[in-house]
Amino acid sequence: MGKVDKPDLPVLAIDLGGTKIIAAIISSNVEILARDYHLTLASKGPQAVIDRVIACIDQLLGKNNVELSQISSISIAAAGAVDSSRGLVTSSPHLPGFDDVPLRDIVKEKCGVNTFLLNDASAAALGEHRFGAGKGVKNLIYLTVSTGIGGGIIIDRRLYLGLSGTAGEVGHMTIEVNGPGCSCGSKGCWEQLASGTALAREAVRRIRQGEVSSLTEMVRGKLRNITAEKVSVAAQGGDPLALEAISEVAYYLGVGLANLVNIFNPEMIIIGGGMAKMGELLLKPAREVVLKRAFRLPAQAVNIVPSQLGDDAGVIGAAVFALKDLESKLELSDYLQ
Ligand SMILES: [Zn+2]
Repeated sequence: MGKVDKPDLPVLAIDLGGTKIIAAIISSNVEILARDYHLTLASKGPQAVIDRVIACIDQLLGKNNVELSQISSISIAAAGAVDSSRGLVTSSPHLPGFDDVPLRDIVKEKCGVNTFLLNDASAAALGEHRFGAGKGVKNLIYLTVSTGIGGGIIIDRRLYLGLSGTAGEVGHMTIEVNGPGCSCGSKGCWEQLASGTALAREAVRRIRQGEVSSLTEMVRGKLRNITAEKVSVAAQGGDPLALEAISEVAYYLGVGLANLVNIFNPEMIIIGGGMAKMGELLLKPAREVVLKRAFRLPAQAVNIVPSQLGDDAGVIGAAVFALKDLESKLELSDYLQ
């Protein structure tokens, strides 16, 4: 891992997700100075996505009259199994074609600036731990529950990356051995049962079986346009089908959470991502499942809370990751290995 050679300059942080790219200029004391959103258009493949990342960097700097020489580093949080030390996206269910893509070095070469790469949920875990819901907590798990489920693990105040840097892929733990097929190649993964995608699919399944819902009218009969967000809106309006679909997904969310609680005995589990916006509608039933299925002591001890930084968790964490060498300023000396 390289050193930050221009410590007082801001970091340019990128959160590269399957749906959107967030780019932000973040000061050396981790304040967001500017941010920009773009669509990833992941289905167009790695080269197109990399070109968009570079374009995002150029646009954000251009708009804010900042030169590449005025930033200390670029730090990219990417959705997928990332080898941080080698700077590779090794595979990604949400970025098709990203198989061993040396994203860090490609961006570094294009921009001529020291560049870092880590997993997006690991970055968000760092962000929430340092500046969000997890401030001061020793052991926590961060989950992003949206199209899929990503995870980041903080153990003894340090980001746990595992041997290759891919630790925390909790969305792909098997919950149902013969469950629905997953883009990772396995079956019955947690994200196939408890993500936003799973929620939309469950609502559509029930409607196709003949159940009545205000959702059918909401999408004018085009069931493929049903999204987790629409199911949430329908549920808030009291739609019984939407409420039942959410309770089904919350049950599976709770099953996975119970596994994590038994394995890690964490002080806190922070839930971010689009599904977290449902708040207690999702979290309350999930907590009840944890209390029923996990061991009593860790189940009662864990605090399952929504994210505080929301969409910014990834870019803030990516900046923290890049700034980790500034020990005197951020007191991160024992923060990362
Ligand atoms: Zn999977």
